[in-house]
Amino acid sequence: MAAEASQPIETRLFINNEFRESSDKNTFEVVYPYTKEVIANVHQASVDDVNDAVAAANAAFPAWRDLGVDGRAPYLRKLSELFLEANSELARLETLCTGRPISYFIDAGLSSELFRYFADAVWNSQGTASTFNPGLMSITVKEPYGVVGLIIPWNFPLANFSMKIAPALAAGNTVVLKSSEKAPLTSIFAAKLIQKAGFPPGVVNIIAGYGNPTGAALAEHMGVRCISFTGSSLTGQKIQAAAAKSNLKHCHMELGGKSPAVVFEDADLEAAAAQTQFSIQFNSGQVCVANSRVYVQESVYDKFVALFREKFAAVKLGDPLDPTTSHGPQIDAVQYKRVQEYLGIGQKDGSLTQGGDANDGFFVKPTIFEKVPEDSRLMREEVFGPVVTINRFTTEEEAVQKANDTEFGLYASVFTKDLDRAVRMSKALQAGTVGVNCTSPTNAKDGAFGGYKMSGNTREGMLYSIDGFLQMKTILIKSGEGSKGLF
Ligand code: NAD
Repeated sequence: MAAEASQPIETRLFINNEFRESSDKNTFEVVYPYTKEVIANVHQASVDDVNDAVAAANAAFPAWRDLGVDGRAPYLRKLSELFLEANSELARLETLCTGRPISYFIDAGLSSELFRYFADAVWNSQGTASTFNPGLMSITVKEPYGVVGLIIPWNFPLANFSMKIAPALAAGNTVVLKSSEKAPLTSIFAAKLIQKAGFPPGVVNIIAGYGNPTGAALAEHMGVRCISFTGSSLTGQKIQAAAAKSNLKHCHMELGGKSPAVVFEDADLEAAAAQTQFSIQFNSGQVCVANSRVYVQESVYDKFVALFREKFAAVKLGDPLDPTTSHGPQIDAVQYKRVQEYLGIGQKDGSLTQGGDANDGFFVKPTIFEKVPEDSRLMREEVFGPVVTINRFTTEEEAVQKANDTEFGLYASVFTKDLDRAVRMSKALQAGTVGVNCTSPTNAKDGAFGGYKMSGNTREGMLYSIDGFLQMKTILIKSGEGSKGLF
């Protein structure tokens, strides 16, 4: 059986440093998308389990906060080492859950880097002090929230796990993380590493389950002071509504995208085609920053499309556990059907010029649509599949107008050798990240990452992640000398 793991798969909840079954014994299936085999039955946290996890995190918070940065850092550094040691087991589990080809697995190394980085980076996120007013010293300090809820998606489960937990812990919070019901296994495996690293009980709690009841219970919990969410814009709206209705908890939203790439006639077309095709093909298009809309200047349109087609055709569909596979299936039947629906819309509204349904399990071939009108649902909604529209433009103004004509604003890229144009376009494109001659996603050290418009309201990466997990307090100290009475 291809899906067999090298050691028994842990499927329980991790609360207060102990693995335990869900209180109501409910479990859900995790399926290897390539063979459709059930690889695990994972315990789903009930509302009681969520309450227990929040209570454990709450009890652990004062001591964890009071350890200070230097006291917390050794735990994060130890975990960083353990991620590297567990690389092959994590790679296998992540591939089994997601169907992403194993050759693309860099996520244990990235996790290791994130825990090491945030352990020390937190020192750089301090408060301010002022003595400008006579008789008054004003000190603004940053403090952790307390219990932070973290809810993550399935497309890069381990990277999202680390991107949230590492800065939250470094900042002094305790956490309850809910993994995605589609890909919970690497989060549960990481809980074993957390136990091994010797974290105090209750500091990290890892639970699994569907949005309802598990995610919703966390989002509306009165004991959670901040929730950091990565996922679709629709779920983001539900979580913000739950936060507003309960205790107005602070909400970080990292949401969906419909990213444009604009290719000008003076660009290095070979490089632009290589980058843009990888952006939408990687992880079978299940990437928030994937450039699903490519706009090419009229004069080089045919040449660019020919290069793009060639590269798309070279991908190798197959078993994601095979290191030579470069294109895996969609993660599950739901996602596959969703992509099929958009394939139908594209065929109705435009021209399918390459790819389409592979008619083999959950596979969709890298797919190109041309001549799709801007008001088609294929142009306006996030497909989350290996489906790109390539359209023409004539002038720079037209390119900007089309690229920005969306409710999303996560990522945009521009391909040109003209520096002045690159600067103008970088300013004009409405997105949290603009790539000039690149489409690559950022990592923690490459800058702030997050969305404009309905793609989000926060930033992750570098000190921005840490600041998101800290709240500010101003302490005013008045002394008699120089004081101006009541004011
Ligand atoms: P999703 O919104 O369906 O689910 C995300 C998480 O939210 C899951 O853990 C799910 O169980 C949970 N959830 C669902 N309903 C909930 C509710 N009512 N209350 C609380 N939690 C709930 O998203 P997905 O399908 O897992 O992931 C794909 C989406 O994530 C895409 O839109 C993609 O663009 C986005 N994404 C964004 C980023 C980013 O950094 N901006 C990164 C990765 C993925």
